Amino acid sequence: MRSKIVAGNWKMNNDNKQTKALVKGIRKSIKKLPLNNTRVIVAPTFVNLSTAMKRAKKSTIEVVAQNMHQSKNGAFTGEISAEMLKSIGVKTVILGHSERRSLFGETDAILAEKVNAALENELEIIFCFGEQLADRKSENHFDVVKSQLENGLFHLEAISWNNIVLAYEPVWAIGTGETASPEQAQEMHAFIRKLLQEKYTTAVADTTSILYGGSVKPSNAEEIFSKKDVDGGLIGGASLKVEDFAAIIKAI
Ligand code: PEP
Repeated sequence: MRSKIVAGNWKMNNDNKQTKALVKGIRKSIKKLPLNNTRVIVAPTFVNLSTAMKRAKKSTIEVVAQNMHQSKNGAFTGEISAEMLKSIGVKTVILGHSERRSLFGETDAILAEKVNAALENELEIIFCFGEQLADRKSENHFDVVKSQLENGLFHLEAISWNNIVLAYEPVWAIGTGETASPEQAQEMHAFIRKLLQEKYTTAVADTTSILYGGSVKPSNAEEIFSKKDVDGGLIGGASLKVEDFAAIIKAI
């Protein structure tokens, strides 16, 4: 059975004090929820990973990184490697977020290298991808998503998929308030699952969690999560407020 996941991507938000308060608040608000097969994840900034991990200790909250560099070490000022994340106890990393792709020039080829470096260090990957508005308008969205998956992930052996979570995030829905309809999300998630079945096996397709991301909020979470191929969400803005994030977790 694949896991349900609600993951909060905090981006470049929350100083140290705010990080402590947010983890504390989430911890308190999910304490009594029956989270059987549901993972709750938060992704603070690099500098606050250790603080968040300390605050999340002995709770079910998982603290993950938002990014990493593909090299082991060296002259890459300002970067962090998979080895470094692993050394402080981080187990999961988000790769390929659309902001990394569009603002920091991360290509499919760079992402494939990052994927390899993460897996070599036994890090789980939440791999983000999704089409631009122009792609959807020109009905190219399936081709774009297919090529992002082929170029970033399809070099992997089936066994590596035990450590991959997919996050479909149409770029036009990220931080815009505009959400893909539950039907649009389901349609794309079913397409992705079919690609996994064709490239790999039915088992890989059935056990890989596929999250939806793009303006998920308390008012639309339940309907989106009710779709059969949507296994949860990657949440940006709404993960910064305890009440909203907790409501989204309740929705799942
Ligand atoms: C994101 O950045 O991954 C995201 C989904 O953001 P938002 O929920 O704010 O659209």
